[in-house]
Amino acid sequence: MGFIDPADRIKKLPPYLFKELDRQRDEVAARGVDIIDLGVGDPDLPTPGHIIAAGQKAMADARHHRYPTYSGMETFRDTAAEWVGQRFGVTVERDQVVTLIGSKEGVAHFPLAFVNPGDMVLAASPAYPVFATNAMFCGGEVHTVPLLARHGFLPDLEAIPPEVARRAKIFYVNYPNNPTGAVADLDFFTRLVEFCRRFEIILMHDAAYTEIFLEDFVPPSVLQADGAMDLAIEFHSLSKTYNMTGWRLGFAVGQADLVGALGQVKSNIDSGAFEAVQMAGIEALTADQAPVAELRQIYRRRRDVLVAGLRDLGLAVEPPRATFYVWAPVPEGYSSAQFAAHVLAESGVVCTPGNGFGAPGEGFVRFALCVPESRLEEAVARLGKIRL
Ligand SMILES: *Cc1c(COP(=O)(O)O)cnc(C)c1O
Repeated sequence: MGFIDPADRIKKLPPYLFKELDRQRDEVAARGVDIIDLGVGDPDLPTPGHIIAAGQKAMADARHHRYPTYSGMETFRDTAAEWVGQRFGVTVERDQVVTLIGSKEGVAHFPLAFVNPGDMVLAASPAYPVFATNAMFCGGEVHTVPLLARHGFLPDLEAIPPEVARRAKIFYVNYPNNPTGAVADLDFFTRLVEFCRRFEIILMHDAAYTEIFLEDFVPPSVLQADGAMDLAIEFHSLSKTYNMTGWRLGFAVGQADLVGALGQVKSNIDSGAFEAVQMAGIEALTADQAPVAELRQIYRRRRDVLVAGLRDLGLAVEPPRATFYVWAPVPEGYSSAQFAAHVLAESGVVCTPGNGFGAPGEGFVRFALCVPESRLEEAVARLGKIRL
């Protein structure tokens, strides 16, 4: 029907880059090949039992069956504030925390609170595309800040034209980084906050992977940087830390007006996270954190298996210090998509072409470590037989 015509914002969405790869995967699978999917960044391990038990108990309690409060339960927000205090050594009050239905929800809604049509936003790339897409939905103009290997996949702040910086309303970054696995230290965050202060830019930090660190380096919060509390909002997620992607729980924390405006947007869109899920979240954040340490061990072993295998193949792979992604440069003569297609056809291993995370990701593929170690060993054995 002619009148069923999507809005321009939908029509302007970039083409789904993985469509062709999905088709190829289905074709290979149809030939009877056992597919090893290292494409999807979704933890394969279950939520720890004590968290499930807390959620089950809360679910049976009729007090949690009614609409939640918009900005989240006071007890969950207090717990989140306390966790941020203990983990990062920064003091935040309850009104500086809003509960999210997964951090994606907050990252997606934040532009609605601050982006007017024609406003410029800075988005680091390659990246999780949610922020840039939603800034565009708001009529924002997205200026891509490329993350390059020679800068450790950190934005080169000096390379951002001052006239662009002066126009910019928001700067979106994410460390530890999906897809590159790069980490940022407090020194970088301090320079980033200074940059945002100088050019009067709101800083949005997506902190979904701060707990998934694989070395001694413990990722900081951007809120630890001097002056961050005046201009920054940070998005935390329980998804990766506690294998809770399906539960949908996260929180935003930072400068009170930024958090408050996000809460105002949300109160006009959703009705908050299920309280039983928030109760499970309180358990996750307050109980003994040994399961997280165990999870890091598991990802560390998986990383070491895959990195060794990719290096044997001749790829110049750096082991990531955090996240569960391995970001690998493709061999000479291949584009990202060509290499991902070749790997799939020759081995049944699925990886993600880097340009799917933005043009600066061209020349790389991303492997996710969300399968058991034995499957990664099988993947490595098959990769070893690929003709390049
Ligand atoms: C997985 C991920 C999230 C977390 O999303 P949730 O909505 O909390 O499940 C956020 N940002 C990045 C970069 C991610 O990779």
